[in-house]
Amino acid sequence: MRYYNIKNRRITAGFKDAVMQGISPDMGLFMPERIPVLEADFFRRLPRMSLPDIAVEVGTLYTGEDIPLPELRRISEEAFDFPVVLQKIGDRKQVLELFHGPTAAFKDFGARFMSGCFRYFASNDDRKTVVLVATSGDTGGAIASSFLGVDGVDVIILYPSGKVSMLQENQLTTLGQNITAIEVEGTFDDCQAMVKGALTGLNTGGRIRLTSANSINIARLIPQSFYYYYAAARAGNNCVISVPSGNFGNLTAAAMAWRSGLDIGHLVAATNINRVVSDYLATGAYTPAASVQTIANAMDVGNPNNLDRLRQIFDGDFQALATAVSGYWFDDDMIRGHISEEFFRTGYILDPHGAVASLGLDRYLADHPGSEGLFVETAHPAKFNDIVEPLIGRPPEMPDSLKGFLTGKKDAVVMHSGYGYLAEYLSARYSPG
Ligand SMILES: *Cc1c(COP(=O)(O)O)cnc(C)c1O
Repeated sequence: MRYYNIKNRRITAGFKDAVMQGISPDMGLFMPERIPVLEADFFRRLPRMSLPDIAVEVGTLYTGEDIPLPELRRISEEAFDFPVVLQKIGDRKQVLELFHGPTAAFKDFGARFMSGCFRYFASNDDRKTVVLVATSGDTGGAIASSFLGVDGVDVIILYPSGKVSMLQENQLTTLGQNITAIEVEGTFDDCQAMVKGALTGLNTGGRIRLTSANSINIARLIPQSFYYYYAAARAGNNCVISVPSGNFGNLTAAAMAWRSGLDIGHLVAATNINRVVSDYLATGAYTPAASVQTIANAMDVGNPNNLDRLRQIFDGDFQALATAVSGYWFDDDMIRGHISEEFFRTGYILDPHGAVASLGLDRYLADHPGSEGLFVETAHPAKFNDIVEPLIGRPPEMPDSLKGFLTGKKDAVVMHSGYGYLAEYLSARYSPG
């Protein structure tokens, strides 16, 4: 499989290069040249396949000869060693829980598969790989946990001081080893600008390989399609899938699975009041906006970077996209109201992100009486206890994986905002001799 640069279709790369570069030097995203179509035989066997089985059969169509099959099996079994849970919570409604991984958010799927790929590629390279990540919260934790102890790879995570929760900060700053946290005196956008500056501007003299692990990396996108195969085959024919969306990686991955032949009835793009994609799907006009803060903060994105990829999956045909995907948006009051209503009606505890998807599914099912669907729950509600507990009158039970991050000794490099400071730090740390 070749990957093309969305900004310039003539520039292509193999899987390994697309992954190790993360983004092309002109800031173009990589996209598979075509979405592979799976055979009828695969779909017959699908209901009995485990997630790692699916990852190997689907994944190899994307990784090709860059990752030999036994290696891909090892990467998949190590990455997906926790359950994916599909549960019925209403007559026509199921929930797909993607938060049973080590950081209790769905980003574990992408981060763990990507780290397996990096580990394999780095083992054939004498240069050190340095992975830079800017995080507003969840991404950094998933990346840190996935790359902890990986030989030949240093991970440097930039986060905005005072703007992440205590639990999130501990996930970044207490691990040590090859994980370095940089606490930036600035905003998430400042962190992102610093990472961008380093990726495009820093001259490392070829001593290190500098790359990024943000959601733009194709090795994070592809594994996010695997659980849709797993779920759709078990949820029933023509199932509607509602995805809580921010940068739209998760929804794009669902669309990839669909285009490969998976039986999906319809896709719902559910967002908080950062509604640019809903508006786009309704009108055809795309107007990026500054992001607005909400209680579903991992989805506070005003200019989603995977929207271009989603368009490519429908070959740039707006009508086809708007027919396949419906967009709905919900404000904080609706999210809060829904978390308590669902709890008192069904006993199910939603987190704010899953609540958005649940609302989106309800809206679609109300308009389409014959249909059934599932919504994606992307984070464990205990991660958002300050929001959830007052709404349901008790704290959601904390998973063991998170309990370990309630304590621990914080270790972070404090840095002023500005690319120059990061460049100085990297040059000093990776100078020869
Ligand atoms: C990142 C994230 C999302 C949004 O996913 P995208 O792929 O960016 O659309 C939703 N929920 C949670 C909990 C997240 O961490």
